[in-house]
Amino acid sequence: MPAFISHSKGAQLASPNCAEDVSSALLFAQANNLEVSIRSGGHMMPLASPQDLLIDLSKHLNNVRIDAKNKLAYVQGGALWAKVNEETSKYGLAAVGATVDHVGVGGLSATTGGGFGWLSGEHGLAIDNLVSATVVVASGEILSASETENTDIFWAIRGGGSNFGIVTEFVFKLHHQADVFVSELSFAPSALPQLLEELDDWVKTQIPQEAAHLAFTNGPNGRVAHLTTVFNGPVGDGEARFERFYALGPIAHHSRSMPYAQLNTIQNGMGAQGKFRAHNGLSIPNFNKTALQRSWNAWEKFVTEVPAAERSVLVFEMYHPGKIESVAHDATAFALRNRSHNFLFVMNLSDAALTPRIHDLSAKFFAGVTDLPEVGYGNYCGLEARQGLSAAKLLFGANVHKLAAVKAKYDPNMVFNKWFAIPVNTPAGKATSIIKSCSRGVSVEESVYDLATVV
Ligand SMILES: Cc1cc2nc3c(=O)[nH]c(=O)nc-3n(C[C@H](O)[C@H](O)[C@H](O)COP(=O)(O)OP(=O)(O)OC[C@H]3O[C@@H](n4cnc5c(N)ncnc54)[C@H](O)[C@@H]3O)c2cc1C
Repeated sequence: MPAFISHSKGAQLASPNCAEDVSSALLFAQANNLEVSIRSGGHMMPLASPQDLLIDLSKHLNNVRIDAKNKLAYVQGGALWAKVNEETSKYGLAAVGATVDHVGVGGLSATTGGGFGWLSGEHGLAIDNLVSATVVVASGEILSASETENTDIFWAIRGGGSNFGIVTEFVFKLHHQADVFVSELSFAPSALPQLLEELDDWVKTQIPQEAAHLAFTNGPNGRVAHLTTVFNGPVGDGEARFERFYALGPIAHHSRSMPYAQLNTIQNGMGAQGKFRAHNGLSIPNFNKTALQRSWNAWEKFVTEVPAAERSVLVFEMYHPGKIESVAHDATAFALRNRSHNFLFVMNLSDAALTPRIHDLSAKFFAGVTDLPEVGYGNYCGLEARQGLSAAKLLFGANVHKLAAVKAKYDPNMVFNKWFAIPVNTPAGKATSIIKSCSRGVSVEESVYDLATVV
């Protein structure tokens, strides 16, 4: 057994130091019939089981190096966005990354991929800024992937998730970044209809430098609709853009200019890693006042009926879609380019005894949010491991066929099968699995994916 693999609480844990160790760990897992689980930021950890070899990249593969001259960040596969922000800000640069900085770069960019952040309106998704990656595939080979090398896997990892290998290094394009202007406004429930009217108007004239999150949350002012608006530019211009929201009379208002790195910490309290928390989500193409009002009603009912979940938060994101939509749907594997409004439901439980009921509780919440699509941004579908052809088709759209071919080439034995696994036609029903719907908690039996029918 390699020295960097140990037993921990009955499970096997690998803490690799380099890509070669990751390669050995993958071969060790396959030789010993262990399932492979990957940890970067640790937000999806309930997916790991005692039968897994948990390959924990966060311990040693967490470094970030900046090439300021070429505006590039070399980010190891287990780093957190906090580390990326810390290093890039030393040079007045920034990457498109998570709005909560304890999220892992690996999970955000390499799960189902995508990566929405405050800068997405101007610079697209995190994967749109990926220049190259080092990927360790199931055979143990260490591949460089870019627009010129191993182009099929480079296409696939930008949206196709951790279906193809373990990324040990990402190279991201960086952008010049000054301070941002941020307003945080809390509105009483009675003001929500008016706020939604105003947001509906604002979204129609939103410019790429503007972004906003609307959170339904429980805080010092009780249950509120909490609006965070961000303007990537001077204070005066930002104030002028957001004056319309100040005029609605929020019960709390805090506006200031701050570094981009700090912006990515202000929502950190929303959902830290841990077993009493789960997240789940949906995406919609257009701003929808009715859906948002219904979501408030569902959230309020839920936190009233389940007091142990009263710290649960529902966040609705508003990014300018132009840059994201400017990339063709088949240019990368990420298919949901027409959906820049994500709902993220972070269920925070204060009572550990409720943890086994977490799927039912999620279904209970989403049952109140009717008429919304069955699938959302894959990285927000965090509660259940969605597997099988139907789930993959929903998420990857027309790209599922090409993804299946890349999967068959690099991972024919489904070594990477934890997250929106794209089934290939493997012997004896190996790929047969249960779908747990991301949004509604529905279970559906799925059959083996016959590659011959689609490629
Ligand atoms: C509070 C909160 C806020 C969030 N905010 C945002 C946001 O602003 N924008 C956004 O886009 N998403 C956001 N997310 C979603 C987030 O992108 C996903 O939950 C992501 O999968 C978490 O990654 P992680 O590395 O922290 O988790 P992990 O549990 O470590 O990883 C999740 C999965 O990713 C895969 N993986 C991890 N690292 C690698 C790697 N190096 N190579 C291959 N596969 C890997 C593994 O399959 C693993 O199971 C948020 C989630 C939460 C809980």
